[in-house]
Amino acid sequence: QPNCGPMPAWIRQPLGQDPHFGLTRTAVQENALHTVCEEAKCPNRGECWSRGTATFMILGDTCTRACGFCAVRTGRPEHAPDSDEPRRVAEAVARMALKYVVLTSVNRDDQPDGGTGIFAETVRLLRAANPGIGIELLTPDFRNCQDQALARIAPLAPLVWGHNVETAPNLYKTVRPGADYARSLRLLEAAARLPEIEAKTALMLGLGETEHEVLDVLRDLRAIGVQRLALGQYLRPSMQHLPVRAYIEPAQFEYLAQAAREMGFSWVKAGPLVRSSYHAED
Ligand code: SF4
Ligand code: SF4
Repeated sequence: QPNCGPMPAWIRQPLGQDPHFGLTRTAVQENALHTVCEEAKCPNRGECWSRGTATFMILGDTCTRACGFCAVRTGRPEHAPDSDEPRRVAEAVARMALKYVVLTSVNRDDQPDGGTGIFAETVRLLRAANPGIGIELLTPDFRNCQDQALARIAPLAPLVWGHNVETAPNLYKTVRPGADYARSLRLLEAAARLPEIEAKTALMLGLGETEHEVLDVLRDLRAIGVQRLALGQYLRPSMQHLPVRAYIEPAQFEYLAQAAREMGFSWVKAGPLVRSSYHAED
């Protein structure tokens, strides 16, 4: 049964004391980079950073959209994307000796290429520094330039191309006002068709969606070939963000994970603390 009282004990996690935690933070701060781990106040920072895994957020720190759940600063970005950012990401990744990197970004609807060029250059430099590195992208929907994004990113063959549908389509108006469910599915379908790339998506639960709606979204995703799925609990980053409508019990996550595997998803992570980049390297 959904539960929307105080935050349950299964959500709270200690931050790590491992020396890797400090090393990761230093490498990020000294290169003037942003991580989703920090900007989204992710509850897994202790675990992921101690293991030397992090998710970098590129294209600056200001997003042209304003999703109701998201802690990233929104508005009109003051600067064009920083062409030196790919180099700094590659340098930080090398210092942290990461084997698997997740690259995501704010939305840059103000840019004609949606920031595709910076994504591509970052992947290129990461590969140049370490040809064996695993790279996963978690991209915007590239509203006005999906074809351009596909043309530039596909030849780089990241292992995984993710784009998050986040929630059920009937909640998009409040949860993802700048997004469109059909457009998100279009990008995922195109990514799933690319050779040597797996398409991945994630949903946050607890925003008021019904179980039926979640299962409908999972069926839509399988129908277009999405292979990887992450389901996690929505946590309100501040009182200005959408309220948590329900804390989903771990058993319900398990039920949905099982349903997803039966539908044919090959990689499924589901649980209160799961984020799209959680254990991405598994
Ligand atoms: Fe960072 Fe993702 Fe781990 Fe959260 S789950 S700490 S965002 S790598
Ligand atoms: Fe946050 Fe992404 Fe929405 Fe921008 S598009 S507000 S970064 S979730």
